[in-house]
Amino acid sequence: MIQLLKFNIFILCSTLFFLSCGSQKKIIFDSKVIRDTVYITHANPNYHIITEANLPEYVISQKNFPSVAFNERIKFLVIHYTVSDYPTSVKILAKKGQVSSHYLITDQPNDTIDILVSEDKRAWHAGISSWNGTENLNDTSIGIEIVNKGFTKIKDSLLFATFPEYQIKKVAALSKNIIDRYQIDPVNVVGHSDIAPLRKQDPGPMFPWKELYTNYGIGAWYDEYDKDVFLSQYIPDTYPYTSPLEFQKSLRKYGYKIDLTGEWDKNTFLIVRAFQWHFRPEKADGMVDAETWAILQALNKKYRSDTK
Ligand SMILES: [Zn+2]
Repeated sequence: MIQLLKFNIFILCSTLFFLSCGSQKKIIFDSKVIRDTVYITHANPNYHIITEANLPEYVISQKNFPSVAFNERIKFLVIHYTVSDYPTSVKILAKKGQVSSHYLITDQPNDTIDILVSEDKRAWHAGISSWNGTENLNDTSIGIEIVNKGFTKIKDSLLFATFPEYQIKKVAALSKNIIDRYQIDPVNVVGHSDIAPLRKQDPGPMFPWKELYTNYGIGAWYDEYDKDVFLSQYIPDTYPYTSPLEFQKSLRKYGYKIDLTGEWDKNTFLIVRAFQWHFRPEKADGMVDAETWAILQALNKKYRSDTK
C-alpha cells in the first residue's frame, strides 16, 4: 500500500513535471486519443517525444517536400500478463531490469492506463520471438501488459486467473486505437505465447480473444461456418485427424514458428497448446482433435489463402 501510495505520488510528480516542462510540445497521448473516460498516466519522468532533429543553427523544414512514401514501423500488437500485482508490475516494468512494455493495464477499476515507454521507442516485452517470418518483435510491435496473476500449477494442469471486465474494456479501447493508427493486420494482433510458444504462457486461455473480435473487431477469428464445413468432413472421435507434418505446415502457414519434424513432439505439443489458448481455450491440452484441426483450417482459409 505504501508502495502504491509512493507510486501515485511519483505519478503525480511526474505528471506535473511533464506538464510544466512539455507545454510547448503537443502531447499525442492525451485523453482524447483513447476515449473520453480513459486517461493515460506518464509514469516515467524522462518520458518525452522526439519526432525530428533539433538543430539551433538550422531550421528543420517540413514545408517543402512532405513525402507520402512511407509506412509504419509498427506491424504487431502483443498482449501480455504480468504475473504480479500492480506495484510489483510497475517495479519490474518501469523502474529496473531488462523488461518493459509500452502500456500497462492496472488491476484497479478506474479510468487510468499507464504508458511506460513512448510508442516511438522500442520496449523490451517480446524477447526472442517470431511471427509469420518476422523475428524479434520488439523492433516492430507495441506491447500491452495486463496486471494478472497468471497461472497456478495443480498437478499437471495450469489454473489461470481471470481478467475482470473493466480490464478487458481498457485493453479493447487501447488496442483498437493502436490498431487503427498503425493499420495493424488482424492476424498480427497476438499473444506473447503465439510469438514465443516454447517459453511463454501469457495472456493464457482466460484472455477473451473471441469477445474482443466479436464485440470490438479486434484481432483475427475464424468463421463458424467454415469451421463447421471442415468439421463435417471428419468422423467424430477418430484420432488423429491429420498427420503431424500436415498440421505443422498449417501452423506455420498461419504464423507460428515451428520445425517441420513430422512428429508429435514436445515442441509441437507446446505450439498446439499456444494455438488452443488463443483459438480454442475450452480444450487447451496440446492434442489435435477434429475441432482444433478444423479451426486452424478455417483460419488459414480466411486469412492465409494467398500464401502456401
Ligand atoms: Zn509476456
